[in-house]
Amino acid sequence: MTPPLSKTRFTEFLVRENSLGECGFEEWIFYPGMLFNAPDKWWGDQGKRDKPHEGLDLFLYRDQLDRILHLNKKTKIPVMYDGVVVGIVNDFLGKSVIMEHGFAAKDNRKFCTIYGHTNPHDGIHVGRVVKQGDIIATLADAGRSKTGISTHLHISAGWIFKSISYDRIDWETIGAPNTMTLLDPLNVIDRSYVSI
Ligand SMILES: [Zn+2]
Repeated sequence: MTPPLSKTRFTEFLVRENSLGECGFEEWIFYPGMLFNAPDKWWGDQGKRDKPHEGLDLFLYRDQLDRILHLNKKTKIPVMYDGVVVGIVNDFLGKSVIMEHGFAAKDNRKFCTIYGHTNPHDGIHVGRVVKQGDIIATLADAGRSKTGISTHLHISAGWIFKSISYDRIDWETIGAPNTMTLLDPLNVIDRSYVSI
């Protein structure tokens, strides 16, 4: 069994699949509101979120020429681990793809990752088996959102109780007590980062 908290190759896959590394990918950049459990928004009026942030928002990064760049609606999204698609639900910018990773079963819980604000690719449906690094989606264009938010990737990771049906998992229940225990995705994201 692979421990779920070992670093993934997620950034490596993202950089490779999107040619982000032409001038060298140096590090992720996060505003406070992008981080796990952040109480505040990083967009619009930067007021309070409805509930603490359920994961991590990936948007800005620095290259080796010290330029600050960002993901966009063409960015293709890889999965972090081998797994199976167990749900696709709506979020406020697009869809969220929920993946189960059987290797990491713990107690009576299953390890899941979620890729939010995306447009899942054709063929990505419940039951689809994928390998780490496979592309499952492209980012959803946030340009038409009235919130003023930028196109970005939301990642959640955590353990869902085996007794919970995936039919019940959506953005109302993700992270709720007795449903899903979230963890900080920075524990599993490769590459360095700075918080500014
Ligand atoms: Zn988010």
